Amino acid sequence: MSAVPEEKINSQPVLVADQLSKHYTVRRGLFGHAQVNALNGVSFALGQGKTLAVVGESGSGKSTLARQLTMIETPSVGVLTIDGERVERFGSQVPPELRRRVQMVFQNPFASLNPRKTIAQTLDEPLAINTGLGRDERAVKVAEAMRVVGLRPEHARRYPHMFSGGQRQRIAIARAMIVDPRIVVADEPVSALDVSIQAQILNLFMDLQQRYQVSFVFISHNLSVVEHVADEVLVMYFGRVAELGDKRLVLSRPRHPYTRSLLSATPALRASDRRLQVRLSGELPSPLNPPSGCSFHPRCPMAIERCRREEPELREVDGRKVACHRAEETEG
Ligand code: SF4
Repeated sequence: MSAVPEEKINSQPVLVADQLSKHYTVRRGLFGHAQVNALNGVSFALGQGKTLAVVGESGSGKSTLARQLTMIETPSVGVLTIDGERVERFGSQVPPELRRRVQMVFQNPFASLNPRKTIAQTLDEPLAINTGLGRDERAVKVAEAMRVVGLRPEHARRYPHMFSGGQRQRIAIARAMIVDPRIVVADEPVSALDVSIQAQILNLFMDLQQRYQVSFVFISHNLSVVEHVADEVLVMYFGRVAELGDKRLVLSRPRHPYTRSLLSATPALRASDRRLQVRLSGELPSPLNPPSGCSFHPRCPMAIERCRREEPELREVDGRKVACHRAEETEG
């Protein structure tokens, strides 16, 4: 884990998603098949040392996006560029050095650590795989990573079950950070933790970012968490971008009715003016039977006839991107 001096911070984005889409073929009935579009034309750019928060209900495509960004899956359409390298040109043979640059922290620290390995072994493994360092050099790095995430030296010989949830998430974060990644994709990294511990782990993420200039894609359904950590917010609905822009704009003056409904369900951030609140009713539509026009129209209190016919383009409105025919009318 190497700290990055300010003059070395790159102004170019470290991660660019250009029209990423993921389609799955699923069985339908005895002999039939259908295509499910889990991700549709998602584009964004992430700068060094910045955090993009991806929000939306479960089923909105957040985890599918995470699997494309971490190269666990290959997008059906679109281009992913990491540190200037177009990932598609490697096909299924993505070089380990490129994979190393994107690490993941999972939601459940209880399931993501091998119960049979001590913490020292858990942290040593990615170094042994990804670096040519000898045993002693790796031991130094393991000790340093433990110190940085707030673990004590005597923890090295303990097993995961001997730790609390917060400590386990610290171990998972150390495991991601130990190989000097450029990007960490964190999928709901605090939602399985006690509220009292959540703030400590969020602060750890922010300290690490400041020190190592790592970029985060932070997936969360909790807008209070997003408000704490994000620079930019990407609101996803039904596999598409509903709204994308600077955190202050999106959270304080949302333009998409779906963003407003998510905010209305977050007491800490909810607009005090009740007229600005949008109650979300119903559920996400089935991907096997997508709605016509705007996919949000069956649940949208502002839907008009045009919304049922015509899919809204993602376009610039008031300094952010938003996919809604009536974005100009929804000033928060
Ligand atoms: Fe609602 Fe229509 Fe905007 Fe879709 S396009 S979010 S249905 S107002």
